Amino acid sequence: MASKRDYYEVLGVNKNATDDELKKAYRKLAKKYHPDANQDNKKEAEAKFKEVNEAYETLSDPQKRRMYDQFGPDGPQGFGGAGGPFGGQGGYYSYTSSGFDGFDDFGDLGDIFSSFFGGGFGSRASSRRKSGPRKGADLNLNIEITFEQAFSGIEKEITITRDETCETCHGTGAKPGTSVTKCAVCNGTGQVTQVQNTILGQMQTRRTCSACHGTGEVIKEPCETCRGKGTVRKQPKIKVKIPAGIDNNQTVVLRGEGEPGEKGGSKGDLYLTVKIKKHSIYTRKGNNVYCEIPITITQATLGAELEIPMVDGSKENYKIPDGTQTGTKFTIRNKGFKPVNSSSSTGDFIFTVTVQTPKRLTKEQRDLLMQLAKTMNEQPPVKKRGFFG
Ligand SMILES: [Zn+2]
Ligand SMILES: [Zn+2]
Repeated sequence: MASKRDYYEVLGVNKNATDDELKKAYRKLAKKYHPDANQDNKKEAEAKFKEVNEAYETLSDPQKRRMYDQFGPDGPQGFGGAGGPFGGQGGYYSYTSSGFDGFDDFGDLGDIFSSFFGGGFGSRASSRRKSGPRKGADLNLNIEITFEQAFSGIEKEITITRDETCETCHGTGAKPGTSVTKCAVCNGTGQVTQVQNTILGQMQTRRTCSACHGTGEVIKEPCETCRGKGTVRKQPKIKVKIPAGIDNNQTVVLRGEGEPGEKGGSKGDLYLTVKIKKHSIYTRKGNNVYCEIPITITQATLGAELEIPMVDGSKENYKIPDGTQTGTKFTIRNKGFKPVNSSSSTGDFIFTVTVQTPKRLTKEQRDLLMQLAKTMNEQPPVKKRGFFG
């Protein structure tokens, strides 16, 4: 797949653009590249128009925009499923522009503009064709992982609850051998027009057909497995790959793992928000890992080679100098979190030493310390300005 242009660039806005600025930029460009206004180079205009729509669809949706900002235009590295981040079904960690699956699908262009300028661009899919294919609902779930799992990445099997297409009727809702017929009340449109007298005069309103509940179809003999719904509640187990370096509250998207679509519409997506358990030793800030390492008074005084436990379970040897004060920070470069987003860099491992005062001593140790104390008494403590006056 050819790499995509940056969506912000496509719309000619900066990364901090407000919803209003996005909308304005989108309107301008949508008009400019409207294929009807570009009869001379229709093909090129169509491509541009599609690109503009795709960019706006992602950036106007706060969740999709967040994903886009987080993972960049090409998606997270190394975890892209088949077809890449914007590509085919089943790819992991993708954000998708739903609905717009070809220019022809747009139908009457007047429609999109009217629904868009009427507010709520997002509602176009549902207002446009009540009885056509509709994408399934997205699912939102939290997933809890450990600090170490976030560090190294993990593949987890989780159980989710969702509707799945009924295997008996293949989603039609009709008993096998029988068929679904067009609703006679609304003539299959799913909507009926009503004329009402109001103070403003006669008004035509459209409402959902009550005979078929807006589906445009009537099932005479419902499927016994799903009672005519076409779907059954299931609890499938699915595999989830959490990329190394993921941070608390970041989201992983599994395309096509949401609720089934209607009338051949594509499946919804599954949004997994990652919650990372607190660790007893390590904390995280950005991509850096922080921890406290206790050392003895002799290690602090004479210097020592410490074995520092890394998050991945390995050890790093680190030499601290003699005369190390409690609270001193040391940095081991590039041993922090790997970036999920290629625009940031690998973090560092930063540890703070705390000098432990011994509580119990053997007689020998006590004697040695007493001897030391005697020599120290001849050498008063270093005066700190403002402390002893
Ligand atoms: Zn069924
Ligand atoms: Zn009907």
